[in-house]
Amino acid sequence: MALSAPVWGQQPVAPVMKHQDTEIYEPVPPVVTPGPANAAPPSDAIVLFDGKGLDEWVTTKDKSPAQWTVADGVMTVNKNGGGNIETKRSFKNYQLHVEFRIPANITGSDQARGNSGVFLASTGTGDAGYELQVLDSYENKTYVNGMAGSIYKQAIPLANPARKPGEWQTYDVVWTAPVFNEDGSVKTPAYATVFFNGVVVENHFELKGETLYVGKPFYKKYDRAPIKLQAHGDKSEPDSFRNIWVRELK
Ligand code: MG
Repeated sequence: MALSAPVWGQQPVAPVMKHQDTEIYEPVPPVVTPGPANAAPPSDAIVLFDGKGLDEWVTTKDKSPAQWTVADGVMTVNKNGGGNIETKRSFKNYQLHVEFRIPANITGSDQARGNSGVFLASTGTGDAGYELQVLDSYENKTYVNGMAGSIYKQAIPLANPARKPGEWQTYDVVWTAPVFNEDGSVKTPAYATVFFNGVVVENHFELKGETLYVGKPFYKKYDRAPIKLQAHGDKSEPDSFRNIWVRELK
């Protein structure tokens, strides 16, 4: 986008970006039917949620105990419960497994249909960090760099293996954290490889910075960071999670 022509006596003004400016609709990733889910954590995993409680989690905004609902071995987003939650532990490079379920009776459309997210590094309160999008992407149209399996507004998934609402789905992620120089500049960027229901949807994708709703991504220096789950502000029924584990990579 070009700067507007300068007017005598005024500085040229950079255009103000809207959220639509970074939303892409074509081409749409092909639909792929995934194989069955696989649930067992490996023996050396750090188990972050095994269905019993939220001991490993805190509320992002004030680090108080996480208030999401736990029942029947499943944790469910509590939209009235303090918002996003994140791990007490902080991580650098890792392998992560997360299972999530969009409710069978999901309502809404576009980004307001089962929206949550797995922040691969939570670098602050709210939605600060690097979001792997969670959304109902089974026959739900939205911008393709914001569908399930996207690195939000940066990486379009290579395929769409989304299951129907009500069915459990898996993310398996290899996260290579960014490395920063002393002065905050980027030494090496972040990379993400993501399997969605066993299908590769991001292949060693180089991130351009933190994932933003509005504007172009950029990096902010951090060292280790929690993994965060999003309580999105849409009106649809809340998503659930189970069987979350991580293996740190040296
Ligand atoms: Mg989200």
